Amino acid sequence: MVSGADNPAHLAMAALCRLIMLLAVTAILLRCRRMNHAARQSERRYRLLFDSLTIAIWEHDFSPIVAQLARLREEGISDIRRHIETHPDIVIAMRKLVRITDVNATALTMMGFERKEDFFDYLGDFLPEGDKSFAECIIAIDERRPLFHTEAVVIPRDGAPRQITISFGLGPQASLDRVPGSILDISRSKALEGQIQHAREELAEVQRTGALAAMSASIAHELNQPMAVIHNYANAAQRWLARVPPDLEEVQQALQGLTRGVDHARLVMQRVRSLIGEARIDRAEIDLADVLAGTVTLMGREAAESQTRLTLFSSPAEPVMVLGDAILLKQVFANLILNAIQAMESTAPGRRIVTLALDARDGQATVSVCDQGPGWADPGTQQDFDSFFTTKKNGMGLGLSISRTVVERHDGTMRRSRAPGGGARVDVTLPLAVNVVAIPCAAAPGLIPV
Ligand code: ADP
Repeated sequence: MVSGADNPAHLAMAALCRLIMLLAVTAILLRCRRMNHAARQSERRYRLLFDSLTIAIWEHDFSPIVAQLARLREEGISDIRRHIETHPDIVIAMRKLVRITDVNATALTMMGFERKEDFFDYLGDFLPEGDKSFAECIIAIDERRPLFHTEAVVIPRDGAPRQITISFGLGPQASLDRVPGSILDISRSKALEGQIQHAREELAEVQRTGALAAMSASIAHELNQPMAVIHNYANAAQRWLARVPPDLEEVQQALQGLTRGVDHARLVMQRVRSLIGEARIDRAEIDLADVLAGTVTLMGREAAESQTRLTLFSSPAEPVMVLGDAILLKQVFANLILNAIQAMESTAPGRRIVTLALDARDGQATVSVCDQGPGWADPGTQQDFDSFFTTKKNGMGLGLSISRTVVERHDGTMRRSRAPGGGARVDVTLPLAVNVVAIPCAAAPGLIPV
C-alpha cells in the first residue's frame, strides 16, 4: 500500500509547489534588483543634477528638530511659536542640531570651500548669533509647510556676512532627514538696492535744495517789482515834501501809493509761495478788464519813470470773466509790462508804447501785450520761457517762466510772437468762466481804448 506522502501524485504536487515558490522568489528577487538598480540610477541622476546645478544647494537633516518638537509637546507645550519666541536659547540649541548632510559645488564656492569634507557640519556653524530666520523655520517644520522661503544672513569661511534667500519643501511627503535647500546669494543685489536707495535720497535732497533755491529766487524776483513801486512812491513823497512849500496833497497820494505797494508786496509773497508749493491757488470769478486796469495803475509810475505809455484796449463791451487769482494774474501782466518797458530802453522815448489788448471769443479770453522794442532775440525758440534764461545784466530769468506757470495753473497758455512793429508780443489765453457767454469781438483796429 502506498502512503499519502509516497503517493506519486502528491510528490508531483509538492515538487510543483516548490517550483512555483522558487519562481515567485526569483521573480521577487529580480524585481528587487531592478528596483535597487532604478533607485541607484535615480540617486546617481539626483547627484549629477545636485552637483551640476548653478544654484547653491545644501541638504539639512531636520529629524532632530522633529524629535525636539515632539519632546516639547510631550512636556505639554502646545503653542510652539510662543514658546520659542520666549526661549531664544532653544532656537540656538536647535540649529546646532541640524546636520548639513550634503552640499553642491556652487554652494561650496559661495561659502569659500573647495572640498565637501571641509564644509560646515551643522547649520549653527554658519548662522550668525542674531539670526531670526531659523525660528520661523522651526515653525514651518512643525506645520510641515510644503514650501518654506526666507531671507537669511550666513557667515562663509572668510567671515564676511552674505545675504541669501533659501527655499525648501517641508510638506508631509518630504523626508526630513534630507531636505535640500536652494540658496540664492542676494548680497550683490542688496548692496545695489542700498546704493540705489542712497542715490535716490541724494537726488531728493538735491531736488529739495533746488526747489528751495528756485522758490527763494522766485520770491525775490516777484518782490523786485513791488519793491521798485514802493521805492518810487517813497522818493516821490520825499520830493514833494522837499518843495517849498511842500505839496502835501501829492505827498499824501504818494504815501497812499506806497501803502498799496506794501500790501501788494505782501500778497505777492503769499501767492508765489502757494504757487511754488502744492497749495491750490484761489479761484474766484474775476473780470480780466479789472485785472488789467489794476495792473496798469500799479505799473503807472514805473512806466512814467521810463517815459513809456501804457495803452489798454478792450474789445468786449461786457465783463470778461475768468476763474482765477487776481493777484497772481496781475503779477503775470506786471511781469510782461516790465519786460516790455525794459526792452524799449533803446527805443526813442516818443515810441515807447506798451499795448495791452483784451479779447474774448470761442470760450477763451486773450490778453496780448505788445511793445516797440527790438523783439525776441531768437524768434525760433521758446527759450526765453525757460527758468534762469536771461539776456539782461541784472536779470534773473524768472519772470517769463513764473508767468507761464501761473497761466498754466489757470488752465491757460502763454505764447510769444512778433508784434506788428517788430517788437515782442506775448498772448496770454485763459478759459472764460463757464457761465459767461463768449462775446464775439471786432478785429484789433476797432479796439476801444480804456
Ligand atoms: P529777466 O527779465 O530777468 O531776464 P524773464 O524771464 O522775464 O527774465 O525774461 C527772459 C528773457 O526773455 C529776457 O532776458 C529777454 O532776453 C527775453 N525777453 C523777455 N521779454 C522780452 C521783450 N519784451 N522783448 C524782447 N526780449 C524779451
